[in-house]
Amino acid sequence: MSSTPFSSSPCVALNTGLQMPLLGLGTYKLCGLQDVHRAVDAALCAGYRAFDSAAVYRNEAELGKALRALLPKYGLTREDVFITSKLGPKDQGEKAMEGALHSWSQLDLDYIDLYLIHWPGTQGLPVGDERNPGNRAQSWASLEELHGQGKLRNIGVSNYTPAHMRALMQSCKVPPAVLQVEFHPRLCQPELMSLCKQYGVCFQAYSSLGKGELLSDPVTLDVAKNCERTPAQVLLRWALQQGVPVLPKSSNPERIQRNAEVFDFTLSDTDMDRLSALDCGQRFCWDPSEVA
Ligand code: NAP
Repeated sequence: MSSTPFSSSPCVALNTGLQMPLLGLGTYKLCGLQDVHRAVDAALCAGYRAFDSAAVYRNEAELGKALRALLPKYGLTREDVFITSKLGPKDQGEKAMEGALHSWSQLDLDYIDLYLIHWPGTQGLPVGDERNPGNRAQSWASLEELHGQGKLRNIGVSNYTPAHMRALMQSCKVPPAVLQVEFHPRLCQPELMSLCKQYGVCFQAYSSLGKGELLSDPVTLDVAKNCERTPAQVLLRWALQQGVPVLPKSSNPERIQRNAEVFDFTLSDTDMDRLSALDCGQRFCWDPSEVA
């Protein structure tokens, strides 16, 4: 299995043998070609080589279009970037093949580097509905098939709980390469982290900045002041220093640039511990723990 070079961006090796950049641009709420183009331009310029989209973000086509237009500007090719997208919860189950192929054709970039089941539940089914496990299994089988065809280079899951992960690991033919979940100092997810380590699944963080709300946390601010970094850089570094890939979202070119300056400093053990001590199980996004 060959590895993909992402020259300017530090990477983690996935269980497929392929590499994934540790830093990616989140794109939730980036809408319309103009905004997506501007953010992708700033990100490529700042050294980002990964981009995180999803069917529900309704920006896959714009992301593909922006990349096709901008890669030559930076002397880059398709192989130099890592694109993630996700199956919408409305397509969980029998519509998974159609949903994944729709993402693939919207992006129009030959292949998708990483495709995730976005959410363990199915849109429209009540929480706790017993059809959920069957739908998840059907979705995973479709992703495995498209992985076999080379359309999805890596496949994975998002928002899975430890119970969902155990069930998937018992039944899959291809193990998930990545689990993408909410992760920041107020939600440290120790059980999921150690399960991923045990299973050889890459644990990836979303909402590292708590959707912006953690940027004004007093401990974050104090650590940032001590190490003369921005609060966002501190929060991203806290994850990276634990080996966890991050996906900060910004639509602002200057913040996109500053958020990428996270590989040239180290947080002390004391600062890491102070941040980790904020863990209180607080979520800024959806809570999957009640999905059957
Ligand atoms: P986030 O990255 O934690 O925070 C984004 C917010 O912080 C935006 O409002 C942004 O505003 C602001 N921000 C970013 N950098 C900043 C800086 N340096 N200074 C001040 N404000 C800053 O939130 P997120 O979008 O929820 O998560 C990141 C990505 O993870 C998403 O975009 C998406 O790709 C992924 N995600 C996945 C899931 C899932 O279910 N799998 C769920 C949530 C998120 P501006 O844009 O104005 O800068």
